[in-house]
Amino acid sequence: MPAFEYLCEVKSFRMLTPTVFEIAFDAKSPPPPEATPEKVSPPYAFEAGQFISVIIPGAGPKGRDLRRAYSIASAPETRPVELCVKLVEGGPGTNYLYTLRPGDVFRGFAPYGDFVFEPKAGRHACFIATGTGIAPFRSMILSESYQMAKPLSTTCLLGVRDENELLYVDEFDSLPWVKWVTAVSRPADPSWNPKHGFRGRVTDYFRAQGDDFPWLETEYYLCGAGPMIDEIKQILAGRGVLKESIHQEVYYKTPTK
Ligand SMILES: Cc1cc2nc3c(=O)[nH]c(=O)nc-3n(C[C@H](O)[C@H](O)[C@H](O)COP(=O)(O)OP(=O)(O)OC[C@H]3O[C@@H](n4cnc5c(N)ncnc54)[C@H](O)[C@@H]3O)c2cc1C
Repeated sequence: MPAFEYLCEVKSFRMLTPTVFEIAFDAKSPPPPEATPEKVSPPYAFEAGQFISVIIPGAGPKGRDLRRAYSIASAPETRPVELCVKLVEGGPGTNYLYTLRPGDVFRGFAPYGDFVFEPKAGRHACFIATGTGIAPFRSMILSESYQMAKPLSTTCLLGVRDENELLYVDEFDSLPWVKWVTAVSRPADPSWNPKHGFRGRVTDYFRAQGDDFPWLETEYYLCGAGPMIDEIKQILAGRGVLKESIHQEVYYKTPTK
């Protein structure tokens, strides 16, 4: 599916955690230039796991526009479309999106990306995210195509620093067919011990898994911080997992702090 330009009208804005916000929008084609009506964008559509490239007006050198990628966090069948964005201190993209409120319009090009769920018969699916890296997995797991694909089992891991940064906990808790694991590396409350919680990083969780984990029968999807993805890949390689079974989307290479 080629990418087209869209005008995205914000329908809602809410904080999901102290530093992560959700923007929901409806997208429509910009009005065509008089001479080229064939440039009208088709109705907004995407595959679960794909992203939109948002235009950040005037934020680049010499007042040029910048672009930032955001995975769609909602299923392809639902509207409005949802993004889940981590507010980065001093970051032009996130600070622009953070100012938007219902009725505001931003521009973007979509859909982009090939980080989509590839159904494979007789395989388990394991989704591993840090922070807002959960966005494409939420889209995949809630999508109709994923429900049809029926992997042998679905495990979804979300790693965050402290429990206040956990995302979509109640929603994932309500999906009985997902094994949902939240990995918290530095709990703010030392007695933090929820139902599906693991103390430590997602990488620690994997190191703690034994030979009964279906290492070689699983397709792995990794999204978020580059260092986490590299470390998980090393652990999986140590377990003999083939590269073909590992799918990844790197949001950024190095953390800010
Ligand atoms: C395919 C793709 C999809 C993406 N989807 C999302 C998404 O759904 N939600 C989202 O919040 N971000 C997402 N990102 C990251 C996003 O594109 C921007 O890089 C990010 O929002 C920072 O942009 P900025 O202009 O505010 O700050 P910048 O000045 O561009 O970034 C500053 C620094 O912030 C850190 N950083 C970037 N992204 C994150 C993050 N998500 N969490 C913590 N630290 C970060 C990095 O260290 C980066 O170098 C995605 C990136 C890619 C490549």
